[in-house]
Amino acid sequence: MLSPRPPRNVVLTYGRRAVLLWLILAVLTACSRITPLVGSEGASAAILGTDATPATAPPEASTPPAFNASRAMQYVKEIVAFGPRPIGSENHRKVERYILGHLKGDAVEEDNFEISTSEGRFPVDNIIAKFPGPRGGIVIIASHYDTNWPLRHTAYVGANDGASSSALLLEIANQLRGKKRTGYSVWLLWDDAEESIKVPWDDASALYGVRHLAEKWQGDGTLKKIRAFLLEDMIGDADLNIERVTDSTSWLEDLVYQAATRLGYQSHFFAREMYVGDDHQPFLKLSVPAVDLIDFNYGYNNVFWHTPQDTIDKLSPKSLAIVGTVTLETVHLLDER
Ligand SMILES: [Zn+2]
Repeated sequence: MLSPRPPRNVVLTYGRRAVLLWLILAVLTACSRITPLVGSEGASAAILGTDATPATAPPEASTPPAFNASRAMQYVKEIVAFGPRPIGSENHRKVERYILGHLKGDAVEEDNFEISTSEGRFPVDNIIAKFPGPRGGIVIIASHYDTNWPLRHTAYVGANDGASSSALLLEIANQLRGKKRTGYSVWLLWDDAEESIKVPWDDASALYGVRHLAEKWQGDGTLKKIRAFLLEDMIGDADLNIERVTDSTSWLEDLVYQAATRLGYQSHFFAREMYVGDDHQPFLKLSVPAVDLIDFNYGYNNVFWHTPQDTIDKLSPKSLAIVGTVTLETVHLLDER
C-alpha cells in the first residue's frame, strides 16, 4: 500500500514535475502572455508565477522538506513496544530515556517537577531539544508522550495518541541536526502529563507539563521570544484529516494551510472545524500564537480514541510524512515572514 521510502519518492516526483513545468513555461512564454495553467495556490502556481514572468530558477519552495517517514514509523513502533506509559510508571521512565537517547549531542533542557493530583504525586519531565537559528525568536514544535492514566491497566499504548507525534518530533530532530539554520531557533518539546487524570476530561487535571512550562517561560522571559507554538497530536491516522481547531491562532493556521498547499497536501487539512482542549491552550492563554494540528476523527466517529484499539496498524508512514513536511514547511514560511 505504501512505499517503504516515501520521502525519497516524494522528492523525486516533485523534482520531475518542476522540470516539466519549467519546460512548459519556457515554451508558453515564448508564444504569448499566458494565464496560469493552475490555480493561484500551490507549488505549481509558485513555479509558473501569476503573471507569466519567467523566473531564473525554480523557487526554493519547489523542494519539499526532507523527512524520512519509514524511520519515523520505526520510532512509533519502538515507543509503542514499551507498552502503556502513564505518568509515574516504569515504562514512562523508559520512554523518557528513549527520547533522550535520540538527542545525544543536541542542546537538551529537561524541565523536571512534581505534581500533586487526586491520584497521588507524580514526577513530570518536559524534554526540550534546541536547534538555534540566527534570527531572534523561537518556534516551538510540541507533542505529549505520556499515555492516558485511566487506561493504565489496559493494553492501551496510544500509538496515535502520543506515540505518533513524539516519533514525528524525533524525525524532525534528525532533519534539523547538523544543518545551519537561517531563521528562527526551533525548539522541539516532548511534553509530559498531558492526559487527564480524571474521566471525563478535566482541564484542571490535565496539561500539567505545558501549564508548568508556559508559566516558567513567562517568568524567565522566554515566552515573549516564542513566535509560534505548533502542537502535533494524533497525526498518524492512515485516514488523515487535520482539523481546523476553533481557538487556534487563525493567521498561523492559514500559514499551515499555505505550507500544505505548496506541498500538494491541502486536502488533508482543515475540512472540518471543531473545538479541542489540548496542549496549545496554556500558551494561547498567554498570547503566544499557537495551532493544534490534530486529527480528531480516528476511526469512524473517533471510535479508536482512548481505547486499547489505538494501535499501530491504524497508522501510516504517509501521514507522518505529510504532517512532518508540512510542519517543516510552516517553519520555513515563518522564517520568511
Ligand atoms: Zn489522549
